[in-house]
Amino acid sequence: MPLVIAMDGPSGSGKSSASKGVARALGLRYLDTGAMYRAMTWWMLQHGVPVEDGGAVAARALEPAIESGTDPDAPTITVDGTDVSGPIRTREVTNAVSAVSSVPAVRTRLVELQREIIGTGGIVVEGRDIGTVVAPDAPVKVYLTASEEARAARRAKDLAADPGATVTVTQAEQARRDRLDSTRKASPLTRAGDAHEIDSTELSLSEVVETIVRLAKE
Ligand code: C5P
Repeated sequence: MPLVIAMDGPSGSGKSSASKGVARALGLRYLDTGAMYRAMTWWMLQHGVPVEDGGAVAARALEPAIESGTDPDAPTITVDGTDVSGPIRTREVTNAVSAVSSVPAVRTRLVELQREIIGTGGIVVEGRDIGTVVAPDAPVKVYLTASEEARAARRAKDLAADPGATVTVTQAEQARRDRLDSTRKASPLTRAGDAHEIDSTELSLSEVVETIVRLAKE
């Protein structure tokens, strides 16, 4: 089996930077599954689909063509051929994504796409359900955490261009998203029993990357 590294954890735990760093260090591809849920959400909003209506979202879940590029130095995400890497990071999408990702038809569709990409070779995959659902046989599983304050500060930095995104607002929105992601019926965020838990609060990015690279070489 090719080397698959499953990276799960809540928002702002540092998964993206760590996953890209590990992929670079080991010469692997990189897949951001959160970007796929965001792309699906962006498409629903663009098409006026009421995202809180699970039936309405499910009815259109097969329509958008979502494609992910897996180069860790330049990951890409397109919907129907349009580059959406910027628009999927807006607060509007961020605050709607948990509703869309709780719809089973959305998860079935995206998990299938993710498995197709994973199936072709070594890769670092980040998300919420990679070690539990998408790639339960992955030889390396990591569950990355950080204190709520550290996570909110990282998110606020990501959203620095948005004047409404103070640490307090971001912390409240993030707490809501984590609550929805961990309590939904379909594949809630949970640590796989065989995942290595790493708390990144007091660690530098390179320390997190080195720890995971070491695990992969064991
Ligand atoms: O990782 P990111 O914060 O970009 O993920 C956005 C959202 O996508 C999460 O809050 C969650 O609702 C959803 N998601 C998911 N399963 C994954 C990855 C992301 O439900 N594997």
